[in-house]
Amino acid sequence: MSTGTFGRYGGQYVPEALMPALEELEDAYERYVLENEDGFLDDFEERIRDFGGRPTPLQHAEQLSARYGADVYLKREDLLHGGAHKLNNALGQVLLAKYMGKERIIAETGAGQHGTATAMAAAHLDMPCEVYMGRRDTNRQRPNVFRMRLNGATVTPVDTGRGTLKEAISETMRDWATTVETTHYVIGSVVGPHPFPAMVRDFQSVISREARAQIQEQAGRLPASVVACAGGGSNTMGAFAEFVDDEEVALFAVEAGGSSLQVDEAAGVAPNSASLSTGSEGVLHGARTKLLQDGDGQIVESHSVSSGLDYSGVGPELAYLVDEGRVTPVNVDDDDALAGFHRLSQEEGVIPALETAHAVAWLEDATPEQLGDCVVLTVSGRGDKDLESVIEETAKRDVPNAPEMDVFGGGL
Ligand SMILES: *Cc1c(COP(=O)(O)O)cnc(C)c1O
Repeated sequence: MSTGTFGRYGGQYVPEALMPALEELEDAYERYVLENEDGFLDDFEERIRDFGGRPTPLQHAEQLSARYGADVYLKREDLLHGGAHKLNNALGQVLLAKYMGKERIIAETGAGQHGTATAMAAAHLDMPCEVYMGRRDTNRQRPNVFRMRLNGATVTPVDTGRGTLKEAISETMRDWATTVETTHYVIGSVVGPHPFPAMVRDFQSVISREARAQIQEQAGRLPASVVACAGGGSNTMGAFAEFVDDEEVALFAVEAGGSSLQVDEAAGVAPNSASLSTGSEGVLHGARTKLLQDGDGQIVESHSVSSGLDYSGVGPELAYLVDEGRVTPVNVDDDDALAGFHRLSQEEGVIPALETAHAVAWLEDATPEQLGDCVVLTVSGRGDKDLESVIEETAKRDVPNAPEMDVFGGGL
């Protein structure tokens, strides 16, 4: 079996009680996902097509192309069922759990996007599903709590700590340690102990497998650059995977610069989520990777206007590809991300998720040499879930390209 490391990163830093679960999962990953035992991959492909709506289009964005003097193509993961790329992974893992003979699915969620994708996949495959969510997050994300419950999932609020994602992850790990025989834990990004980072990348790499074939079909060539936003890194790894060996294709991971790149040591927070650009090595959630830490090596809370990018760590393989110089990390602050949100909405008629808006906004900062003459940008999700935050955040600042926010009174 592989060691599950990417250079100095990755590994399995977990309590002894979880090792049997990881070994069993590693074995299942190798047999079903890598070797297609029992036709697992064919089953997955059929379901992600008929239930998920794949393939998603690769769309030539005419206004952006004119603006940047390069052909800009959008890989439209916002059109996947559920409105984001997350279903690729959630459906893959729930299906794998079924092949492994598991009877129950658990997951953790912060803003609720991964929880809703997992609940959808579990309903589709007729598996009971329990989603742990910090109490504070359940109050902030009521529509997502309801979506999960509509799909038959149980949402369990976690009251410890600050009541956010970090505590929800600990609670899910605790559940898993005592229920491994019957239960699979669906991790939502390319993070966590081996084999999760490799397995989640493989499920998400459908994005670049399609995009690579589509651009060859539509433009008769490979792109000069691929641009994708990075939180934990599953959209990024999915968008990059099939291009990593194409040396001539430049890969850009766009992180959330938040309100500042400086860690606030006194408050123990980083007002950003730029772990690739500013983080240092450490261990979080079972893997060695790049993390936001203070001078004493304490992991600090992250911040971003976009909840999906708001994470103190990042996938180990992405950290490795950055160290190797294959992936270039860049970042965009909250203000510019909002401008990116309004720009894609106005110029192309595509309302992006706030996470995606970071990647869109970076096109403004990029040099012509970085972008080259042909760009593929993944629209990781649609922005409907973010409209309330966008109204609030746009009203707070001067976003030059935003529509008038108060025309109807009442804040709109
Ligand atoms: C969750 C999410 C992200 C960030 O997660 P990754 O694992 O980095 O992909 C990005 N975009 C959207 C739309 C999301 O829902």
